Amino acid sequence: MRGASVFLVGAGPGDPELLTVKAQRLIREADVVVYDRLVSPEILATIPPGTTRIYAGKSTGNHPVPQDEINALLVALARSGRRVVRLKGGDPYVFGRGSEEAAYLARHGVLFETVPGITAAAGCAARAGIPLTHRGLASGVRYIAGQCRAEATPDLDWQGLADADTTLVVYMGLGNLSGICRELMAAGLPGDTPAAAVAEGTTPRETVCRATLESLPARVAEDGLAPPVIVIIGRVVALASLLHCQPSFGDREEGEGDALGQAARA
Ligand code: SAH
Repeated sequence: MRGASVFLVGAGPGDPELLTVKAQRLIREADVVVYDRLVSPEILATIPPGTTRIYAGKSTGNHPVPQDEINALLVALARSGRRVVRLKGGDPYVFGRGSEEAAYLARHGVLFETVPGITAAAGCAARAGIPLTHRGLASGVRYIAGQCRAEATPDLDWQGLADADTTLVVYMGLGNLSGICRELMAAGLPGDTPAAAVAEGTTPRETVCRATLESLPARVAEDGLAPPVIVIIGRVVALASLLHCQPSFGDREEGEGDALGQAARA
């Protein structure tokens, strides 16, 4: 949209090279960048030194800047005539309350444009060598939020989610990981279903923990994974051992290609 004064921009999962070209340009041209806790230090380092930065972060169970205040701040900044980038981790419209901010701006007559970003599920999975879908292993993928307001295991349709043919990606699932895995197993998803947790995916601090649905909570605790953590559950996770570090063709070990084919057909 021409003339937008607020850009709701997705920053992607953390690696600055995963910013879109448009996000890079808008960050360069902004007068002020209002950013979230999830925006990585590497991406913050790309904000020009003269640009005003405002932190509007929230962390689990701790809301330093209430959403109402962020909304009001965006409107006030826009009305002051500044070019505002509202920079949000991943994609602004995936579990990021970006749509609430957009609705508020719309209600207050502020012109805005939303710039998509690579959501954590797509970025972290690809970087960890996990294809979210793969012919013969997963015909679909679902994104769910693993945390609800009361900080209890969310009240979800576990029977529907316990589907071995679909990859399940859990955002904000660290605090309730044991409960989530237990509910899925109780609903019939086998305990030996491959599962992974990725912390700070696509950053230099990335940690990947691979286990099974049954053993993941204990492994994540042992490895001391800290937020942000995304959890991927499904047969496709088994492909990570083949895909996580793509060997050049010359380096490929004998039989690796066959194993991939077998996994796909299994
Ligand atoms: N809008 C964001 C999601 C916000 S919800 C997006 O599209 O990605 C916050 C959750 O996203 C975190 O609790 C975590 O589950 C996930 N997340 C975001 N960035 C991540 C990263 N670099 N590594 C692992 N998980 C991440």
